[in-house]
Amino acid sequence: GLPAMPGRPLAPRRVSRRLQVGPVAVGGDAPISVQSMTTTVTADIGATLQQIAELTASGCQIVRVACPSQDDADALPVIAKKSQIPVIADIHFQPKYVFAAIDAGCAAVRVNPGNIRQFDDKVKEIARAASDAGVPIRIGVNAGSLDKRLLEKYGKATPEALVESALWECSLFEEHGFRDIKISVKHNDPVVMVNAYRQLAAQCDYPLHLGVTEAGPAFQGTIKSAVAFGALLSEGIGDTIRVSLSAPPAEEVKVGIQILESLNLRQRRLEIVSCPSCGRAQVDVYKLADEVTAGLEGMEVPLRVAVMGCVVNGPGEAREADLGVASGNGKGQIFVKGEVIKTVPESKIVETLIDEAMNIARRMEDE
Ligand code: SF4
Repeated sequence: GLPAMPGRPLAPRRVSRRLQVGPVAVGGDAPISVQSMTTTVTADIGATLQQIAELTASGCQIVRVACPSQDDADALPVIAKKSQIPVIADIHFQPKYVFAAIDAGCAAVRVNPGNIRQFDDKVKEIARAASDAGVPIRIGVNAGSLDKRLLEKYGKATPEALVESALWECSLFEEHGFRDIKISVKHNDPVVMVNAYRQLAAQCDYPLHLGVTEAGPAFQGTIKSAVAFGALLSEGIGDTIRVSLSAPPAEEVKVGIQILESLNLRQRRLEIVSCPSCGRAQVDVYKLADEVTAGLEGMEVPLRVAVMGCVVNGPGEAREADLGVASGNGKGQIFVKGEVIKTVPESKIVETLIDEAMNIARRMEDE
C-alpha cells in the first residue's frame, strides 16, 4: 500500500486570519508555505524570471523581489505576469513604489515600517489601493532597520521593540479598516526572534511570516533557521516561512521544505534513513547514501529509503522503510515493503535501489 501519511504535528496550529497571496492562501488552516527572494537586479527582467523559474522548480511557492528604484518598479508588471508563482514586491523608503507594485499586479507588498519615510501619512491611500486590488500587505520589521523612536525607547532591537513596531504599523492600517496583513519580526539571533514571534502571536491574530534575518552562510543559517522555526512551528506558530541564507535562493527553499517535512507539517517526499556508519560498517555508507540521494532527487512520491551499513540495525530499518538495503560482506540485501526481494553485489546496490524506487513510484502513481 501507500506509505503512511505524516504523523501529527507537535501542536495544534495557532488560530490566525487567512489571506490570499494570489492563489496561495496564507494563515487559517492553509498549509504553511515556503517562500524565497530573488538575488537578481529586478530591473533585469530576463535574469529575474530565470531565477523565479529555478525557484519554482525547487518548490518555492511565493517569491519576493526587491524594488529599490524606478527601473525595478517598471519591471514589475512583466515579472508579475510571467512568474509561475505569486510575486511580492519588497519596498523600503519609497511609498510611491507600493502603488506601482499594486498597479503592476503583484500579489502582495512588503513594507518595512522602519524604512518607509513619511509612510504614516500615506497609509490611508495605501490601504485603499491595496483593498481595492485585493492585495495583502506584509509588515516586515527587521532588527537592522528598527524605527528610531523604538530604538531610543528600548535601547536596542528587543523582542518588545520589534513587536511594538509591527503592531503600531498594523494599528495605522486598522484605522482605515484594513486588516489584510501578515507580519514578520526578524532578528539574526534565534532566541530574540523566537521570543518576538511568541509575543506577537499572543497579541494578534494576523498570519505570521517566519524568518531569521541575516542567518549567515548555508551551514550556520540552516541550523539557526531550523532551530528557530522548529521552536515556533512546534508551538503552532508560523503560517509562511522564509529561510535566509548567504547562498543561492533555491537552497533556502530546500531547507524550508525540509524543516516543514521534519515537523510533519508537510507530507514527506524522499526521505533517506541512513546510518552514521561505525566500525562495523562493511560498505562505504556515506558514498552509498549520497549516490542514492542523488539518483532519487526530484522524485515526487513520498518514499522512505533506508541505507544501512551492516546487519546490526540494517535489516530492522530496511524493513520499516518502503525500500532499503542492509549491507554486509560485499553484498546488499534489498528490501521492498519489508521483504527481502534480492541480494546483489555491492557494485549493484545503487542502481538496484534506484530501479526499485522507480517501480514503487510507478505503482503508487497507478493506484
Ligand atoms: Fe554501525 Fe551498522 Fe549501525 Fe551503521 S547500521 S551505524 S554500520 S552498527
